[in-house]
Amino acid sequence: MSSLANQVAVVTGAGRGIGRSIALKFAGAGANVVCVSRSSENSEKTAAEVRALGRTAWAVAVDVSEGVGVAAAVEKILAEVGRVDILVNNAGITRDGLLMRMSEADWDAVLDTNLKGAFHFTKALARSFLKQRSGRIINIASVIGLMGNAGQANYAASKAGLIGFTKSIAREFGSRGITVNAIAPGFIETDMTASLGEDIKAGLLKQIPLGFLGQSDDVAEAALYLAGASGRYVTGQVLTVDGGMVM
Ligand code: NAP
Repeated sequence: MSSLANQVAVVTGAGRGIGRSIALKFAGAGANVVCVSRSSENSEKTAAEVRALGRTAWAVAVDVSEGVGVAAAVEKILAEVGRVDILVNNAGITRDGLLMRMSEADWDAVLDTNLKGAFHFTKALARSFLKQRSGRIINIASVIGLMGNAGQANYAASKAGLIGFTKSIAREFGSRGITVNAIAPGFIETDMTASLGEDIKAGLLKQIPLGFLGQSDDVAEAALYLAGASGRYVTGQVLTVDGGMVM
C-alpha cells in the first residue's frame, strides 16, 4: 500500500515548481490532489499530470491572499471532495529590493501571499481538520526566514512569520491529532530562482556544503515524509532542505 493511499491533499502554488513536484509526489504515493494556483491554466496543467498517474485531481484557481475567495474555494472543495487530509501551504512570491527602495506595495504583496495566504487556507480548513481529529499541515517557508537576506526584508519577514505561525498552530491543534510543520528549502532551481545571475548562483554555491543546487523533488520528498505515516510523531518543526546552508 502506498503511504498516502486514498488521502486527499490540497497543495497551493501547485501550478509550477515545488508545489507541482509535491502534487505529483503525493499522487505517486496514492493521494488524490486538489491543485491550487493563481492561474487556471497552471492548476489545470498539474491536475492533468496527477490524473495521468491514475489519481483523481481537482484544479482550483484562486488568489491565496484573498480571504473571501479562499473561503469560497475551500467550501466548494469540501462539498466536492468530502474530506481533506493534508494541506500544503506552498504558494509564494518574491518582490526583492533593498529596504530603502522597497515600496509598501511590494511589502504587502509578499506578506499577503506568503503569510496571509497560509492563514486563509489553514483557517478555512481548520474546522474540518479539527472535526475529523486528524490532518497534516505543511508550510513551505525558506532558509531566508531563518537567516535573513539583504534585499529580501519582506520575503524574510513573511517566511519567519510562517515559522512562528507553524509552531503556534502545532500547539493549538496537537491534541486533535493534527501535525503542523514547516519545510525551509534552500536554493531550489525553479522559475522563482531562474532569473538570478550566474555570479549570485556562484556565490550561493560557496555557502552550500553539499556543493550543488536543490531540485523541487528534494523538497517534495521531505513533504512526503511529513505527510505520511513516518511523520506521525513530528510536529512544530522546521525541516531545512538546503544542502547544509543552515546548520
Ligand atoms: P514558483 O516556481 O514561482 O511557483 C509559485 C507557485 O505559486 C505558482 O504555481 C503560482 O501560481 C503560485 N502562486 C503565487 N502567488 C499566488 C497567489 N497569490 N495565489 C495562488 N497561487 C499563487 O515558486 P517555487 O520556487 O516553486 O516556490 C514555491 C514555494 O517555495 C514558495 O513559497 C517559495 O517562497 C518557497 N521557496 C522556494 C525556494 C526556491 O529556491 N525556489 C527556496 C525557498 C523557499 P501560477 O502558477 O498560477 O502563477
